[in-house]
Amino acid sequence: MTELRIAIVGFGKIARDQHLSAIAATPGATLAAVASRNASLPGLPHFATIEELLEKGPPIDAVSLCTPPQVRRAQAAAALAAGKHVMLEKPPGTGVAELDPLIAMAADAKRTLFATWHSRYAPAVEPARQWLAERRITSVHISWKEDVRVWHPGQGWIWEPGGLGVFDPGINALSILTKILPQAVFVTAAELAFPANCQAPIAAKLTLTDIGGLPISAEFDFRQTGPQSWDVLVETDQGRLTLSGGGRRMAIDGKTVAEAPDEEYRELYRRFVDLAATCASDVDLAPLRLVADAFLLGKRTIVEPFVD
Ligand code: NAP
Repeated sequence: MTELRIAIVGFGKIARDQHLSAIAATPGATLAAVASRNASLPGLPHFATIEELLEKGPPIDAVSLCTPPQVRRAQAAAALAAGKHVMLEKPPGTGVAELDPLIAMAADAKRTLFATWHSRYAPAVEPARQWLAERRITSVHISWKEDVRVWHPGQGWIWEPGGLGVFDPGINALSILTKILPQAVFVTAAELAFPANCQAPIAAKLTLTDIGGLPISAEFDFRQTGPQSWDVLVETDQGRLTLSGGGRRMAIDGKTVAEAPDEEYRELYRRFVDLAATCASDVDLAPLRLVADAFLLGKRTIVEPFVD
């Protein structure tokens, strides 16, 4: 197998927390360079921008874009134009339509565009999908509540237009929802709470359904202190399924039936190596479309200013 030589672009929290160790643990993947304005790694070629990386950098096959969503489209276009495979952190864009030209570019260039949804690779998500496929689902409730000061300290971009606010984690829940349910779902109503000094919501309540009228509700909140919740509860005709810990544990009627350590990012890089081997793309926009529709339909309230 030839090694996929990858450059990380945007060396911030998620690059440090997950991408570095996942690349190191993935057969067929090698970290070859870093492009980041303010961060570098000892012993690795470093460039301030992706343009500099593509122009003057060592030979690479792929880039992994770990920058905020507002700048990723232009970076992906530059990388594809230079003949590189592209891995996108979630969310894949700041808008839905901006992905179409990138998908077309990747196809024309015979390169991979991989829009990642790391939560879909949490260990209990696939077992949950399989369990639900054989049952009649009667309702779904999502509770995704975390302390933004703990998980996103100093990340000003998250509060800017295109930063998604509480939908930055909330879209992970929607990526699980759209994976485990057998039918397409859509938003019918939303309530969005915007801090007076921010361009993105700090909390949101969504009502969703499917063609059969399945009741689905979701609560996202960035103001959670104390216990954090990343839970999906699904009632069925044969018991209640609980996915907790962001998809790491599955319980049926309160009894744990699947639980494993988090290998989400290793799975993502295994998939990226496989996709790149055949120049195939994987871009599912379903979670981003739900967020876009929540913004379209959302009733807005202004709440107290957020100070990090
Ligand atoms: P972050 O800590 O702010 O890191 C992003 C890095 O991108 C920054 O350190 C910065 O590095 C670079 N950057 C910031 N603004 C830029 C700009 N305008 N132009 C070019 N580069 C810029 O953010 P993060 O938490 O790693 O999140 C990045 C992406 O990963 C987000 O889409 C997020 O949803 C996703 N993600 C995050 C987590 C998490 O737990 N934090 C989990 C899963 C996915 P330089 O200043 O060195 O350029």
